Amino acid sequence: MIKKALMPSQPVIEIRDLHKSYGQLEVLKGVSINAQKGDVISLIGSSGSGKSTLLRCCNLLEDSQQGEILFKGEPVRWKGQGLNRQPADRAQVTRIRTNLSMVFQSFNLWAHLSVLQNVMEAPVHVLRQPVAEVEQRARALLDKVGIGDKADVYPAQMSGGQQQRAAIARALCMQPEALLFDEPTSALDPELEQEVIRVIKALAAEGRTMLIVTHDMRLAADVSNHVVFLHDGRIEEQGPPASLFKSPQSPRLRQFLSHSL
Ligand code: ADP
Ligand code: MG
Repeated sequence: MIKKALMPSQPVIEIRDLHKSYGQLEVLKGVSINAQKGDVISLIGSSGSGKSTLLRCCNLLEDSQQGEILFKGEPVRWKGQGLNRQPADRAQVTRIRTNLSMVFQSFNLWAHLSVLQNVMEAPVHVLRQPVAEVEQRARALLDKVGIGDKADVYPAQMSGGQQQRAAIARALCMQPEALLFDEPTSALDPELEQEVIRVIKALAAEGRTMLIVTHDMRLAADVSNHVVFLHDGRIEEQGPPASLFKSPQSPRLRQFLSHSL
């Protein structure tokens, strides 16, 4: 179990009544989420329910039409309205994106860069941090995720589980306030899934703030202190994993779980 801080603090990320459409298709219909430091929140729901969209809206990879996004109490500043609404301040976008580092289902490593170069790329070229300092941190992170010996190989030479661990090291090398995982294990064979799950569990045990979209109910139950069930662009039910999985209230969640457990 994750121990919650006794003092209420500023949420790392707060989403208030977020609405997001792709053209005519309204995908998020008023979603609110609050992640305090150390929270591990799992987002579950059927394919197409808006989980990836919500995660991408959090770090401003997607625009949204209505509602607020706050990073450590700082509201995203917008210009325009409705389908024309966009963040108004590029520096703020970079700051938020750096601090909410994303791990994708398909790893998204650069094929032409070595593992070490992949991990160092953004801190050196986006954050302009000194190369020697970043390299030291990158090597320590590769050790931490168990692929310290793979620093000089290219992604194609590694298994999916190793590539995903490299992607996690890359996200950590940005020294983010929180990590956003979008189905981090669903592209992996079951035996490789476990090596990534071990890393995610270790990060949860360290008290890292994480939002995890996952189809793996056991992972959600093991690592999260809060689970959110999205259905058709709305939060249908949410709560601590023990109660949500043992006694779901919503028939839709019951039906979803009967196919997922
Ligand atoms: P989930 O991750 O829960 O499977 P998504 O957030 O990927 O759901 O998608 C939610 C809905 O939005 C789906 O109907 C999907 O087809 C649609 N969608 C996702 N991305 C786009 C896009 N870039 N353009 C248009 N529609 C999209
Ligand atoms: Mg998705």
